[in-house]
Amino acid sequence: MKISVVVPAYNEEENLPEVAARIKENLTGRYERELIFVDDGSRDDTGRVLREMREQDEEIHYVLLSRNFGHQSALRAGLDYASGDCIISLDADLQHPPRLIPELLGHWLAGFDIVYTQRRDDEKLPWLKRRTSAAFYKLMNTLSSVNFEPGTADYRLIDRRVADVVRASPDVELFLRGFIHWVGFRQKRVEYTPEPRFRGTTKYTLGKMVQLALSGITSFSVRPLHFATLAGAIVSVLAFAYALYALYVTFFTTRAVVGWSSVLVSVLFIGGIQLLVLGIMGEYLGRLFMQSKQRPPYLVRETDDGLPRPPAPL
Ligand code: UDP
Ligand code: MG
Repeated sequence: MKISVVVPAYNEEENLPEVAARIKENLTGRYERELIFVDDGSRDDTGRVLREMREQDEEIHYVLLSRNFGHQSALRAGLDYASGDCIISLDADLQHPPRLIPELLGHWLAGFDIVYTQRRDDEKLPWLKRRTSAAFYKLMNTLSSVNFEPGTADYRLIDRRVADVVRASPDVELFLRGFIHWVGFRQKRVEYTPEPRFRGTTKYTLGKMVQLALSGITSFSVRPLHFATLAGAIVSVLAFAYALYALYVTFFTTRAVVGWSSVLVSVLFIGGIQLLVLGIMGEYLGRLFMQSKQRPPYLVRETDDGLPRPPAPL
């Protein structure tokens, strides 16, 4: 049996050797092993570090992307190249503790196809991170039809069958967390307390988090469009009622001087709603546009010689 471990890395040169060591420490037994590091267009020496690690260790492989495609795309690259019977994915900063690997494998051997992890809310995590993460999942669950569990990041084990489904999905921008939930199969949750980042700082800037949130919401639901329609309907009804009132005041009473503030407020209000609705429609349209171009989710600049080109997806 072969186990693949996939690690997306963006500017993680200081962490990689330690990550590899800790993974191997926790992945023992009669398995064939494969550690695939995906360099997501790092600006530091991640690529060079990976080449050196590869020279010293046959079990280590690397895929260097042509530029920064983002965490989700890097993860997908790793899944494409992985050839194991199951694939474990985790972050390159040791916040996802490799000590869980035996437990993940145990559940897989017991017959689960997806073993995902859930982070216990931890006081050690930065306050802002906890708040944004909690708000993110709340928003996701309000706005989409999939039930996202808070604290489930991309530390999980998936069976070959699930990996093949991911590989075959044509989404240009795949939100894995939601997709994995959507595919079904037999799933098992494992809880853990996160560790602090080993070295370096977070690679998820606010911009990248907003992008992730938008892609998660728009790729799993059209509920925001329903909200937009509903908001439009409510405002129309209110506007119509007010118009009737205005006509009544003009024609049947003598107090026809209508204040400018009510006009201003309603114009601003309706204008705001219109912009919001246009924005939501634009988000979906933009995604349709990106998808219609059928560009690949990532481009590979270089891999090591031990890593065969992945077969075409099913
Ligand atoms: N990452 C990536 N591409 C990016 C941003 C991040 O491959 O554009 C990787 C990063 O190297 C790490 C994982 O995604 O392995 C999670 O990122 P990070 O730990 O910075 O996020 P946080 O834990 O702060 O949410
Ligand atoms: Mg991290």
